[in-house]
Amino acid sequence: MRPPDRIDTALPTKRRQPGMNGPRKVHIKSFGCQMNVYDSHRMADTLAPEGFAETAAPEEADLVILNTCHIREKAVEKVYSELGRIRQIKKAAARDGRRVVIAVAGCVAQAEGEEIVRRAPAVDLVVGPQSYHRLPDLLARVAQGEKPIDTEFPVEDKFDVLKAPSHAATRARGVSAFVTVQEGCDKFCTFCVVPYTRGAEVSRPAAKIVAEVEHLADAGVREITLIGQNVNAYHGTGPDGRSWTLGRLLHRVAEVRGIARLRYTTSHPCDVEDSLVAAHRDLASLMPYLHLPVQSGSDRVLAAMNRRHTRADYLAALARMREARPDIAFSSDFIVGFPGESEDDFFATLSLVDDVGFAGAFSFKYSARPGTPAAEMADQVPEAVKSERLQRLQAAIDRHQAAFNTRCLGKTCDVLFEKPGRYPGQLVGRSPYLQPVQVMVPASLIGEIHAVTITEVSANSLFGTLAAMPAHAGELMLAEAGG
Ligand code: SF4
Repeated sequence: MRPPDRIDTALPTKRRQPGMNGPRKVHIKSFGCQMNVYDSHRMADTLAPEGFAETAAPEEADLVILNTCHIREKAVEKVYSELGRIRQIKKAAARDGRRVVIAVAGCVAQAEGEEIVRRAPAVDLVVGPQSYHRLPDLLARVAQGEKPIDTEFPVEDKFDVLKAPSHAATRARGVSAFVTVQEGCDKFCTFCVVPYTRGAEVSRPAAKIVAEVEHLADAGVREITLIGQNVNAYHGTGPDGRSWTLGRLLHRVAEVRGIARLRYTTSHPCDVEDSLVAAHRDLASLMPYLHLPVQSGSDRVLAAMNRRHTRADYLAALARMREARPDIAFSSDFIVGFPGESEDDFFATLSLVDDVGFAGAFSFKYSARPGTPAAEMADQVPEAVKSERLQRLQAAIDRHQAAFNTRCLGKTCDVLFEKPGRYPGQLVGRSPYLQPVQVMVPASLIGEIHAVTITEVSANSLFGTLAAMPAHAGELMLAEAGG
């Protein structure tokens, strides 16, 4: 008898198995950042014309795709443990005479390639982030009994091949959408795998981005977040044939009818150039909230990380942004316990948090990624020290976040209502600072922006009531609450 892992390698035919009606179903699970969420949507859009409908339930899927992230060690282990779970689903389906194909996509796929099939033989195909547009072909190869592994950086532009979402699919995903404008990174921070898994920086042409935003706006999207691994290094070709900066692109995207809010992420402090600062000054739709990772407050550690900027450079970038947009607030990323980080270095990070007063931040213990320079460094910090520092850092971040939220109490801000809240009659929206705001209002307000007076705050959420004042009055509050 063949082992169960090898029974199921053939692709389900377009017609489902006897007793099962409707189109084939694909379940895509995303790990990691917004780039992966966006990629997952584009994979679903590409598979839709092949007869695949999305399902949230892996148990009913004919094709399960894990869109993976390689940034942190635990994320990789999460993928393997998830594969163990999906393998059981595949086995159960096989007992019912149904075939399930398992695909691993994303940065773990890129980095580990064949190792994935070796460790998890139930996997049928492995596809790197630059080859998603080849999924239909790869699935056809699975149907022929192959286990294709495609981790190339193809010459063709995947964005030219990937299918646009239908209006119905866009609407189902909500009023806020991501649009990839740039991929890859040339910075080579010593702890990071992105330059190896996503390759060198590549920017999409401005006209294609604008066309995608117009398509989303037509379907009812109100907020666009331009995304890229190093988004403010954007240098795509404009319709005038020149290289456009992110600032220039934001000005153009802001002209798209129906788009009320703009954001972008993730940025690097070295690429905060003048046109981007000007965009924050000039564009009312560009939200006054900037996620600008710093990683450490110590110049010694920043140099070891190859961040190419100092603490003073970082603070200068924030100061330029504040001068252009006084109500702006900041969030950041931090790594604690980088190799060689001393207690003094860590104090420098804590003092940076206090100096800036971040409205929010993500913080992580350093974990070595194989193949990166930092993984080979001497002076790895003991796990217990990392844990203790992380706790102290998170307490400082939480304190500043709570203070920022508390300053919103009694103020009025514009809220874009996104979806139903936890309670009947409640909607959840986002403030300009990305804070979730819960308000008792009719569902018909989804997709609209209204001024809301904040009546209560908790650690992670705001609560409020519709304000009887024009929506733009909410911006006053933001100036007062500023980071
Ligand atoms: S800038 Fe960001 S994506 Fe690029 S190497 Fe550094 S951490 Fe990784």
